[in-house]
Parts: sequence; structure tokens; C-alpha cells
Amino acid sequence: MSGSTSRQQAIAAVTNYQPISPPLNFAKTPSSEFYGSNVFGLTEMQKRLPKQVFKSLKRTIEKGEKLDCSLADTVANAIKAWAIEKGATHYAHVFYPLTGLTAEKHDSFLVPDGNGGAVAEFSGSALIQGEPDASSFPSGGIRATFEARGYTAWDVTSPAYILENPNGTTLCIPTAFVSWTGEALDKKTPLLRSMQAINVQAQRILKLFGHVDGALVASTAGPEQEYFLIDRNFYFARPDLYTAGRTLFGAKPPKGQELEDHYFGAIPERVLAFMLEAEHELFKLGVPIKTRHNEVAPAQYEVAPIFETANLATDHQQLIMVTLRRVAEKYGMACLLHEKPFAGVNGSGKHVNWSLGSSSQGNLLDPGHTPHANMQFLVFCAAVIRAVHKYASLLRAVVAHAGNDHRLGANEAPPAIISVFLGDQLTDVFEQIKAGGAKSSKGQGTLTVGVDVLPPLPKDAGDRNRTSPFAFTGNRFEFRAVGSSQSIAGPLVAMNTIVSESLDYCATVLEKATGGDVAKLPGAVQTLLKEIYDKHGAIVFNGDNYAEAWHQEAAKRGLPNFKTTVDSLPTLGTPEIIELFEKYHVLSKRETESRMDIYLEQYIKTINVEAKLTVEISKTMIFPAAIRYQGELATTCANLKAIGYTFDTDTLDKVTALVKELQDTTAALEKIAAHHGGSGLLEEATYYSTKVVPAMLTVRKAADELEGIVADDHWPLPTYQEMLFIK
Ligand code: ADP
Ligand code: MG
Repeated sequence: MSGSTSRQQAIAAVTNYQPISPPLNFAKTPSSEFYGSNVFGLTEMQKRLPKQVFKSLKRTIEKGEKLDCSLADTVANAIKAWAIEKGATHYAHVFYPLTGLTAEKHDSFLVPDGNGGAVAEFSGSALIQGEPDASSFPSGGIRATFEARGYTAWDVTSPAYILENPNGTTLCIPTAFVSWTGEALDKKTPLLRSMQAINVQAQRILKLFGHVDGALVASTAGPEQEYFLIDRNFYFARPDLYTAGRTLFGAKPPKGQELEDHYFGAIPERVLAFMLEAEHELFKLGVPIKTRHNEVAPAQYEVAPIFETANLATDHQQLIMVTLRRVAEKYGMACLLHEKPFAGVNGSGKHVNWSLGSSSQGNLLDPGHTPHANMQFLVFCAAVIRAVHKYASLLRAVVAHAGNDHRLGANEAPPAIISVFLGDQLTDVFEQIKAGGAKSSKGQGTLTVGVDVLPPLPKDAGDRNRTSPFAFTGNRFEFRAVGSSQSIAGPLVAMNTIVSESLDYCATVLEKATGGDVAKLPGAVQTLLKEIYDKHGAIVFNGDNYAEAWHQEAAKRGLPNFKTTVDSLPTLGTPEIIELFEKYHVLSKRETESRMDIYLEQYIKTINVEAKLTVEISKTMIFPAAIRYQGELATTCANLKAIGYTFDTDTLDKVTALVKELQDTTAALEKIAAHHGGSGLLEEATYYSTKVVPAMLTVRKAADELEGIVADDHWPLPTYQEMLFIK
């Protein structure tokens, strides 16, 4: 089958597609009836566990108290009974290795009974601990072969759930994944540690303001996930897409996103059907999906849940990614989570909304109507400003990976320079503080639309700023630099830890200044806030982050601007960062260093695969198409010449030149990619970033130009136009 035949077939398949899923009926079964039905949450626990056991678990989940392991057998029995009622044959410890993906190892409940039969068994120890081996996951040297054991440990704060499959269901237990030596091999362990750290420091601040109930302060997260959907037939006709997750070739289509007619537009029927089923599946898993809409680029969409505590939000985020991918298949589509599947149109990010809250104090980043008078809020807010300024490089490093290089630092939203958007109202309050004390907050007021039948709208105190990588959005901060394919754990670990350090600093200063005397608090807070804003106000920027002028201004302010993954990752190895993570018991030196190595290695592997694919596609798909067309043109020219026509050979000349360019650049890339770039990981990664990536682009340039000339019926790859617009 020639390339173009597969394209024709793909197009026919798209236009004739029939869904394979039976239709859902929300009138018959409203969402509220099945929401959480596949989760062993508090309701199910209360129903099935003895009172004392339930109470104890609840204290661990809600207050962060130490887990009582003696309860494990009772809990395991209850979970088993529940899971078997739900048709489960197996259980799986689910964990989150440093690849950023979700991993699971399934075990059957069945054990031989010694009489030739078998019984379903699930002990407390099987619930609490697993040993999946899983030694092929990256450990950055922590798991040398002689100490290769890896354990999964039950995380009671993230509820067990049932994963459905047409042929049976599996009980899934979220776990942390650690080595024989107790070192973290995953994304969850440091996240839980960082949540513990921030609680300790936040309590100190709350205590200064007289809140001593000790209600757990948890970091909360609400991640907005952007993704592309294209027809699966196109997907499988593109080796670059199904192997590397992004197109390595593809000329710009005549129409891209410039008309902005897709953004928030009516959702195509097949896509909406997919969304409804994906949400249906996620509801069953207790993932509180809230919003959906079309995004800016054609074929791009977004889904966002209601925020939850950071750990749960992270596990749910992983489930969202898995579910989007799985359900898309049923509707004949492929869900692309890569940061930049298509050059020339917007890439995909994952905006991570972050805040702190407790059951008694509510949201600690809620300014109220008069932020200038809300000292407690201002301390928390200033702590974040200070943290982001002090550790901007760390925030950049935790979103660094090959896919995100196409967004950050590469003419796309948001830039690689980390800054904070505060909005008019808060900036004004901090400016007043700087000048000696805050006396007022700019009002909120109402908007008059000028149409009597429309209601007056309460006006928000601050506008939005879509270009900022770290924006205050009313009662939380939104970290927008996170990539669409990334686990949100890394960014959350970083935010929790840097803010812990800042709260620690603030608490220490205030404790010392007041010496326990509440009357001294307002003065001490004013002094602290002024000092922080004087020193760290440079991170605040409310303007257009895309403007060239900002890049110059940011440089003047001394803000770091790490353009690539390779520029950013070494931050993880600096003494400042290693000490930071050590001090708050989030990561040991070895754990931090191993992470840097793993991420560098991942970068190298990713680019290496992309380079090999570029060579393969260039040689075996594009070159053959180009010379076939060249042959046709040459034959035509020879025929015309034979009958005495005068004609010009412009197209043939152009094709010939481009074929040569394609061959030369491909040969050059092959040579460059085969060469070893350096002794250490950093040198090697630098080589890939500075030599291999540009060499790939030269091949692409020649190929994309050929795409604009070669006869369409010869072209082997589905085009951008087809993939983005045929739905
Ligand atoms: P927008 O696109 O306007 O930024 P969305 O509704 O798409 O807004 O997403 C906002 C996200 O922020 C949601 O996931 C929401 O639950 C989350 N969020 C709201 N309040 C908080 C909070 N206190 N902590 C963390 N996330 C929050
Ligand atoms: Mg949004």
C-alpha cells in the first residue's frame, strides 16, 4: 500500500466512522448515581469497617495522623469483599515512577487452598506492601543491581478504586514506590513529604494569628489539561506521531489557528460524545471533572476538574490522562498529550492551580474584599512571592523536558522566564506597604453592560493575564508553565517546598519580632511584608510576557531565563536546591541528584528516538515520494523536448535541489546522531540539544518545502490540514 493509499483510506475511515460504544443515557442514570461508585472512599469505608477502624483511618486521611498498621487486615478484608462484589479478579499496586507515567502490577486474589481448589485472599500485608521488582524503571543509580529491591507502600490518603475492562475488573491501590534503602523512586513519595512540610510551617503562621486548632493545612491543586484529538487513522499513518507523540514533519496548512474560530466554539459531535464518555468513566472513579471546552488550536481541547488536595489531585490527574487516551480509541480518535504535536499552532500545557487550605480556615490565599486589612492572607501571599523569586530557577527546572522545550523559551506561551502576575488590586496593596503601610484596597464594583435585560455583573478585583507563567487568579496561584504530558507531582513538590521554606522564614521573623505579644503583630507584619516586597518585588510583572521588551526588562531585573531543558536541569544539582530539599525532608541529596540524572537521560533518549525517526521517515517515505515526482517531471520534460516544445524546468529544478538538500541534511543528521556527545550525561544532553535538534530541523525544512511542491497523490504522510480539520 503506497503512502497516499493509506491517506485515502484514512480519510474514508474518518468520514464513515461509527462509534463502537453504546450510547450513554444520563436521564435514566444521572451522574449523581454513579459518581464515585468505583471508589473505596470514606462512605464505603464507613459502611464496611468497624467504627474504631474507620475513625482511625479517617484521622490519617484528614488530619495526617500516623497510620495504624495493625488495622491492615481488617481493611484488606473489607476492600476485598467490596472489590469482588464489583467483579474484581485481581488487585494492583499502582505507582508513579519517574518516567511520569502510571505503573501497575496485577496479582490475582486466588491462592491454592491445598485441596486442589483455590480461594480469594487479600491480606493486610498485601495491602500495605508490594514488591513489584520493576527494576527497569529509572532510579538514577539508587537501585544498583545488588540492592535492587523496590517496594510499593499503600497510600491511604488516595482511595483504592476499580478499573473496569470488558473482560473483568481490577482493584487498584495507589502506592508510593521506594527502594530497599527507603529512598524515593517515584513522584508520590516526595509529594507526600512536601505536603507534610508545608503543614508544619503553615501551622506556625496560623498560630501567630491565633489559630491553634491544628486542622491540617493541605496544599490543593486543580490542573487544567489541554490535549489534541485527531482521527486514529491519521495517527497510525504517521510513524512520528505514534512513536514520538509529535509530528517531526508537516508543512503549515493554508489555514491554521489565525481565525480563532475553534476557540470555545461548538464542540464537534464525535468529540463531545467522547468527552461525555470520558467524564462518565472519570465520575465513576470519583474524579470531579468540571469544565470542558475547545482550545485555541484546531483539534485542541481542555478538561479541568474541581481542585482537591495535592496528592489526590495528582493521582486523579494521572487517571485523567489514562482515561482520555483509552476512551478516545473507542471513538476512533487518538488523544495527543504531547506539548507540541504540531508546529505552527499552539502547543498544550497543563495549568496547575495551587493554594493552601484547611478545614477550619478555608482557603488561605483568599484575600477577601479588603486584602489590605487581611494580614494573614498578605503573609501567605508574600511568602509565595518570595519563594517564586528566590527559586524561579527551580520552578523552571521542574517543568523542563524535551516536549516542553517547544513551548517555553520557544516563541510560545508562557515564556521560560518565571514571573508572578499579581493583578492591579494586590500590586497596589503591596506598593502601599512598600510606601509605609496599606490603607485601602481598590474596589471591585459592578460592571454595567448597558442592556436592561442583562444582570449587573460583580467585577473581579484583578484582571486576568493569560501570558503570565505564574499568576494570582483571585484566590490561588496558577502555574502555567507545566507541560501537558507531565505529571503534576514535580511542580507541586517544588511549590510546596519553596513555600515551606518561605513560610518558615516568615514565621521565624514574626515569632522573634513579637516574642509572643499579639499587640506587636501588625507592626511586625508590616515590616516583614515591606522587606519581602523590597527584596523580591522584582518577580512581579503584570504586563505582556510575550513582548520582547519584557525579556530585556527581565534580564535587567536579574530574573533567570533558561531556554532549554538542558539549560534548566542543572539547577537541581546546585547546593542551594539540594539543601532546600534536604532541610524540609522532601528529598535527600542522593534522591535529588538521581532525579537530575534521570531527567537528563530521558531528554537524551527522547531526542535520540526523534532523530532516528526523522532519518527513517526522510529516507523511506519522503525521499521515495520526492524522486517519484521528480521522475514524472523529468519524463514530461523529456517528452516535451522530443516533440520540440520550449518549456521551463522550474519545478523540476526546485524538486531536484530540494531532494539533494533532503539527502544531504539527512546524511548529516545520521552522522551527528551516531556520534557520542560527551562523557557525562550533561555533556551528552548538551550535544543533543545544540547539535542533534538543529540537525533535525534542517531535514524538516527540506521535507516541508517538498510537501508544498510534490504532487499530493504521491505524498505519504497525512498533512496538517487533514489531521487538524477532518473530524
Ligand atoms: P480558568 O480556565 O479560568 O483558569 P478553569 O475553571 O478551567 O479556570 O480551572 C480553574 C482550576 O482552578 C479548577 O481546576 C479549579 O478547581 C481550580 N481551583 C479553584 N480554586 C482552587 C484552590 N483553592 N486551590 C487549587 N485549585 C483551585
Ligand atoms: Mg482554563
